[in-house]
Amino acid sequence: MIIPLVKGLLLTLSRFFSKPITIQYPEEKRTPYPTWRGIHYFMTNEKGETICVACGLCVAYCPSQCITLEIGEREDGSRYPITYEIDALRCIYCGFCQEVCPVNAIRMSTNYEYVHYDKANFILTKEKLISLKEKV
Ligand code: SF4
Ligand code: SF4
Repeated sequence: MIIPLVKGLLLTLSRFFSKPITIQYPEEKRTPYPTWRGIHYFMTNEKGETICVACGLCVAYCPSQCITLEIGEREDGSRYPITYEIDALRCIYCGFCQEVCPVNAIRMSTNYEYVHYDKANFILTKEKLISLKEKV
């Protein structure tokens, strides 16, 4: 009877002096694993425009069907997204969009702190996806 009690107390005592495994979030932040799939962002060119060529592959592959794209065409025949939106509340963060993108335009960041009260903030427009790149 007394031996299990002593064992239990010793275990408690050893934990008392061991390094804590918890962190004091949000003052302390955990570094996510490099392949963590957080909120999306758009890669941009030197003019600050998205490098998306509006091929539509991400739209076709997205299992949640949460990407919408309106395709535009320049005079030189190159394509660009007039509008591009990801509904981040329907997204399942599978990463297919970034995997299929032929120009690596759409990427997923390690940002795990994208939180808002307003649902509208979870509609990631082209402009918002460009601005999110700065917060990566
Ligand atoms: S990560 Fe989200 S937006 Fe991208 S393909 Fe998966 S469900 Fe669709
Ligand atoms: S983000 Fe990539 S896959 Fe999606 S339409 Fe643009 S170029 Fe194509």
